[in-house]
Amino acid sequence: RLELRQVSKRFGDIDVLAGITLHVEPGEFVSILGPSGAGKSTIFSLLTGGLDGYGGDVDFDGRPLADARRPFALMPQRDALMPWRTVIDNAALGLEVQGMSRKAARDEVASLFGEFGLAGFEHKYPAQLSGGMCQRAALLRTVVQHRAMLLLDEPFGALDALTRTGMQRWLQTMWDRHRWTVLLITHDVREAVFLSDRIYVLSRRPARVLREIAIPLSRPRKDLASPEASAIE
Ligand code: ATP
Ligand code: MG
Repeated sequence: RLELRQVSKRFGDIDVLAGITLHVEPGEFVSILGPSGAGKSTIFSLLTGGLDGYGGDVDFDGRPLADARRPFALMPQRDALMPWRTVIDNAALGLEVQGMSRKAARDEVASLFGEFGLAGFEHKYPAQLSGGMCQRAALLRTVVQHRAMLLLDEPFGALDALTRTGMQRWLQTMWDRHRWTVLLITHDVREAVFLSDRIYVLSRRPARVLREIAIPLSRPRKDLASPEASAIE
């Protein structure tokens, strides 16, 4: 369980976060929705240790984040894949950074290529894949880390509308199957409503939580997890 209480951050004399309070329960899919520049990626940098000096409290499972054992796997907003590595070596990187040998990491990720719609593309380079496939490869690299929570920063932001819709359906299907705990950042209202249990709406900078929206449980998750939704290539 992740909990942020009154978290604030300044860069120089600019307030970027002005008291963010939010929580994510195990197995929940929660989104942060807000305009460009609001401070969304700053929240993820702070969670993954990329920032020093912030106000307020961040707890994971009841302990200060600094004492928690790296609970997050991050899929960054930009440059998720290294262009000079093959797809399988990109996917393996998530485990290599955790100390696994490249051979063992390759073996572990290889079994997931089918489920992620990437079978046969193991030895291609990112430039030889479609945008949607690159995003699936980046997500594969993130989930194999087996962290307690996935942090996804605009995972489909760079995709065309049709590919994006397909990827949203695919992520929905994958979430139904795996029940990952997810904190998703997005600008896209439809995406947030379609995928989330709850949504935090941020104001423009300095970011504050304006509203927390719970999506009713009656939303048709099962319908979205239809066979055609999982058959996106
Ligand atoms: P987008 O939706 O465009 O990705 P965002 O909500 O993720 O935007 P952030 O990347 O968190 O926005 O940036 C919020 C603000 O903080 C921006 O004005 C940005 O210029 C500023 N900022 C972010 N990182 C730094 C930094 N390391 N040093 C100074 N200013 C920064
Ligand atoms: Mg951002």
